[in-house]
Amino acid sequence: MNPDQILEHFRQTDALLDGHFLLSSGLHSPKYLQCALALQYPADAARFGKAIAEHFVDQQIDTVASPAIGGLVIGYAVASALNVRFLWTERQNGEMTLRRGFTLKPGERILVVEDVITTGGSTRECIAALETNGGRVIAAASIIDRSNGAADVGVPRVALASLDVPSYSEAECPLCSAGDRPIKPGSRA
Ligand SMILES: [Zn+2]
Repeated sequence: MNPDQILEHFRQTDALLDGHFLLSSGLHSPKYLQCALALQYPADAARFGKAIAEHFVDQQIDTVASPAIGGLVIGYAVASALNVRFLWTERQNGEMTLRRGFTLKPGERILVVEDVITTGGSTRECIAALETNGGRVIAAASIIDRSNGAADVGVPRVALASLDVPSYSEAECPLCSAGDRPIKPGSRA
C-alpha cells in the first residue's frame, strides 16, 4: 500500500474528511481525521498491520505495545502480522503506565505502534512506561504521521503516510475569511 492508497482508504471510510471543521479544541481546520473509522473492518486493519509489520520483520521484535485506546486496533494487527504478543499502556490518574498484570522480561525487544502520531507525546509516554518496566523499545510506527516527520520519539520511527492537518483560530481561518462557516464533525446532515 502506498501513501496515496492509504489516504484514499481513509477518505472512502470517512476517516478523513475534507471541508471546514470546528475542532473540540475550538480551532478550525480544513481536514478532520478519525483513524478508528479506517479500521472498522478487521480485513482493513490486518492490511495496515501487515504493511507496518513488513518494516520490522528482520528486527527480532518480541512484543508490540500500544498506548490505549487509539493504538489498540492497529497494534494488535501489527502483532498478529509479526506473530508476537501484544500488550498496552494506559493512563492511570493521568500517568501512562503498563496495563496491570502485564510484565516484561529484561531487555525484551518492543515495537510501539499508534494509529496517528501528531506530536509524539503519547508514544514517548508509552516508551517511558515500557522502559520503566525493563523493556527495550527498538522502534515506533504509526499509520499516519501528522508531524511532517518532525515528531521525535527517541527511537527510529516509521509511518505509512504523512498528512498535514492545519488548524487555525477563527480570526486566522482562511475558510472563515472566505465567508464559509465551520461545522462540527459528525453533525453533517
Ligand atoms: Zn474557519
